[in-house]
Amino acid sequence: MTARRDELAANLDVVRRRIATACSEAGRPQDDVSLVVVTKFFPASDVRLLADLGVTDVGENRHQEAEAKVAECADLGLRWHFIGGLQSNKAAAVASYADTVESLDRAKLVGPLSRGAQARGRDVEVLLQVSLDPAGAEHRSGAVPSDVADLARRVEEAPMLRLRGLMAVAPLGEAPEAAFSRLADVRADFVREHPDATVLSAGMSGDLEAAITHGATHVRVGSAVLGPRPEVQ
Ligand SMILES: *Cc1c(COP(=O)(O)O)cnc(C)c1O
Repeated sequence: MTARRDELAANLDVVRRRIATACSEAGRPQDDVSLVVVTKFFPASDVRLLADLGVTDVGENRHQEAEAKVAECADLGLRWHFIGGLQSNKAAAVASYADTVESLDRAKLVGPLSRGAQARGRDVEVLLQVSLDPAGAEHRSGAVPSDVADLARRVEEAPMLRLRGLMAVAPLGEAPEAAFSRLADVRADFVREHPDATVLSAGMSGDLEAAITHGATHVRVGSAVLGPRPEVQ
């Protein structure tokens, strides 16, 4: 465990420095950007070490794995971000443990998320996931930008969901700078309508600098902290 702790500490140090450098190059204060460590495929024992190393926010992308890990780590006081594709029949369950759901990308999820939050008796923060795929590309996940305004209105009307901002993943096969620059435009329109929903979750291990340049307030970093994930996903 000491060896793993040292490895995680060293990796975290590198990632925190990258964030700090990117902030200073973008002329932004360092505390503008929060680190969410993505722990998918890694055991609860790693989550425990990360908490001990000062990590406050962790991300998971699969419901069953997330649910089990949240239960195992309930004593750590962490904030859990659900960042994966959501099925509508799992959405209420996800809202029963997630503090922030970052991947709301269609209207069908609003009802179940809201019901899950109500059952738990606690607000759930919501980010709308925006697709950055060029028009006509095969659809990955995320709402097309023209659907964001309607989704935002539905979230605002739903009991116990708090609209906090936007999330995106840079598409493969395109420079992340170009994708995050489009995201910055979508966000500018969005924040004009929702001035309190200022969170922008963008940037991962490979492209966090580009995301910070284009206004990310949260980066989701997995492999740069935890190491390569197992091949089978
Ligand atoms: C896995 C994942 C990440 C982290 O990716 P790394 O490249 O390992 O940093 C970030 N965001 C989402 C949505 C993910 O699924």
